[in-house]
Amino acid sequence: MKIASENIIIGSGIFGLSIAAHLSNLGQKVTVVDKSENPNEASSNALGRIDPILGGSGHGHETKPLPVAKISLDAYKKFLNLDDETKKEIEFEIRPTIHFLEDDSQFKMIEDLIHQIDSERNFFSIQNKASIEIEKFINLSYFPSLSLFNGTIFINSKKYKTYLENECKKNGVNFIKDEIMDIHEIDNSPKLSGKYYSYAFEKLIVASGPWTKKLLGNSIKIDVYPSKGQIVKLRDPDNKFTDLHLHGSCSVIKKKDDLIWIAATSEEKGFDKTITNQAKDFLIDSAKKMHNDIDQFPFHSQTACLRPQVENDLPVIEKISNSVYIASGGGGWGIMMSIMVGELIENEINS
Ligand SMILES: Cc1cc2nc3c(=O)[nH]c(=O)nc-3n(C[C@H](O)[C@H](O)[C@H](O)COP(=O)(O)OP(=O)(O)OC[C@H]3O[C@@H](n4cnc5c(N)ncnc54)[C@H](O)[C@@H]3O)c2cc1C
Repeated sequence: MKIASENIIIGSGIFGLSIAAHLSNLGQKVTVVDKSENPNEASSNALGRIDPILGGSGHGHETKPLPVAKISLDAYKKFLNLDDETKKEIEFEIRPTIHFLEDDSQFKMIEDLIHQIDSERNFFSIQNKASIEIEKFINLSYFPSLSLFNGTIFINSKKYKTYLENECKKNGVNFIKDEIMDIHEIDNSPKLSGKYYSYAFEKLIVASGPWTKKLLGNSIKIDVYPSKGQIVKLRDPDNKFTDLHLHGSCSVIKKKDDLIWIAATSEEKGFDKTITNQAKDFLIDSAKKMHNDIDQFPFHSQTACLRPQVENDLPVIEKISNSVYIASGGGGWGIMMSIMVGELIENEINS
């Protein structure tokens, strides 16, 4: 059977859905194809941190490069500007971050970057150790110093995905379960075939996350590869855990689901998504470097999924032939960047 649509989007992760919502809002006909009815990939399992300044956890002390920080700030502002109802639905919150430092030069780097992208201090601020109250649970023996950073947004990425899905459904987006097996004649008149259907389209948008290169092979120049990330979640039965987000060797935060999230590993293991005890121990040890009592909270669960990694963590939005586009990348910041990808694809289509 052949399915025809003005736009076919491969992938119903946060990138595919964001684009589907945007194009369908413009009145275009959109069909989203995913190999799974309820994909449980990175978009459903991410920590959901939205932060243009601090680096990712695991390599967590450095700041983002200035050009990346500037683009990330645009995405950050879009989250800030969501209406109150949507914010509530996606569990939007701004949480103070205790950022652990390896030396004082890191404090200066953060201060400088805030100054460069937010000179009026509308969104971000940082205080040094001398001006903050140090609570007893904070481990002072591993990191030489720490700071208090204000401005980090957290959302529930799974709920954000559901919100986008509902927007798409309201706009009449068609969802199909099928695994795309082959895209050929990309440069001339591209043909798309899945396990169950074949497709006809005016525009094809490949938003298949870490599987993008697998589908497109050499048609895509930039390297998008899977980076495995594991997260450990702990319970807090006596409601004793802090409201602060701890950030240094990893990210530790009690989210609105009442679980303490310890995120994340960064491993190159191809498409392997198995959870490991090694990662669990590593994450708990990393958290212990910031929180003295972390090992007293009971284990709840562990997840593993794959980031669509690119070198600079920016989205890869490119036209690769007359009717085929890629929307991938974003690496460890794909949730933050996803809010921009609909507009970026629209610009690419109109350019
Ligand atoms: C541990 C971890 C923590 C993270 N934390 C954050 C964070 O705090 N902040 C942040 O901004 N980002 C974070 N990220 C990054 C973010 O999760 C990803 O960048 C983002 O979810 C990628 O979205 P995507 O839609 O491109 O890919 P995916 O979510 O992987 O979606 C791709 C979809 O394509 C489908 N697909 C693939 N191949 C095919 C095919 N052949 N046919 C049909 N369908 C196909 C898949 O089933 C999947 O549903 C984190 C990632 C990880 C792993």
